Amino acid sequence: MKYKRILLKLSGESLMGERQYGIDNNRVQQYAQDIKTVFDAGIEVAIVIGGGNIFRGLSAEKSGMERAQADYMGMLATVINCMAMQSALEDLGIETRLQSAIKMEQICEPYIRRRAMTHLHTGKIVIFGAGTGNPYFTTDTAASLRAIEIKADVVMKGTRVDGIYTADPEKDPSATRYDEISFQEVYDKGLNVMDMTAITLCKENKLPIVVFDMNKEGNFMKLAQGEHVGTIVK
Ligand code: UDP
Repeated sequence: MKYKRILLKLSGESLMGERQYGIDNNRVQQYAQDIKTVFDAGIEVAIVIGGGNIFRGLSAEKSGMERAQADYMGMLATVINCMAMQSALEDLGIETRLQSAIKMEQICEPYIRRRAMTHLHTGKIVIFGAGTGNPYFTTDTAASLRAIEIKADVVMKGTRVDGIYTADPEKDPSATRYDEISFQEVYDKGLNVMDMTAITLCKENKLPIVVFDMNKEGNFMKLAQGEHVGTIVK
C-alpha cells in the first residue's frame, strides 16, 4: 500500500447524490463501502466532511445574516453529515469515533488530537466534525489542518469531478485535466482546488493533495494502492 494514513475530505454536496439538498443515504452507504475496502486493507482512515448540502455561512451572509453566526450554523451542518457517515460505517461493522471541534458531548467526543491518534492506531475510523471550530474557515482548511496534526500521508479530496482541470470542464469543453501539478502552479493559475488557506497549509507542511472522483466506485481503493487517479498536487 502506498499510504499508511489517509485523510479523506468529502464535501457536503457529495452526500446529496442526485438531490438538491440534504443527504442521500444510498450515496452515503456507497461511500462507506468504498471506505471500508480501504480500511480493510489495513490503511488508517480519518474523514472530514463539509456541510454545503445543508448550510453555508457565505451564502447566508449574502442574504443578510451575520457571518460568524451563519458559519457556526454551517459547522453544525457538518456534524449532521458526519453522523450519517458514522452510522453507515458502523452498519458495516466498523468501529468509529466522531470528534467535533465544537463540544457536543451527548453525540460525540470533543476533538482531542492525541485521542484521535490512539483511535486510529487501535483500528477505528475517526470522523472530524464541525470543521476547525472557527468561523471564516472552511472544511477544506479543517481537512488540511487535521491531516497535518495527525500526520496523515495525504489529503484526498473526493468530489464529483475526476481531478483538477485547466478550466471548468462543465463550462469549457476544451479544458484538460492535470495528472500532477505543483502548489506554485495552483497559485499562479488561480486553480480552484481548495481555498487558499487550505492550499497554503498543505504547501508549507509538504502534504500532498489528491483530487479525485469519489462517485466512481473503487477509485478510493485504487488511489490507496498507489494507482494514478485524479490529480495530485505536490
Ligand atoms: N465552516 C466554518 N468553519 C470551519 C468549517 C466550516 O465556519 O472551520 C462553516 C462555513 O459556514 C461553511 C460551512 O461550515 O460554509 C460548511 O462547510 P464547507 O462550506 O467547507 O462545506 P463543503 O463545501 O465542503 O460542503
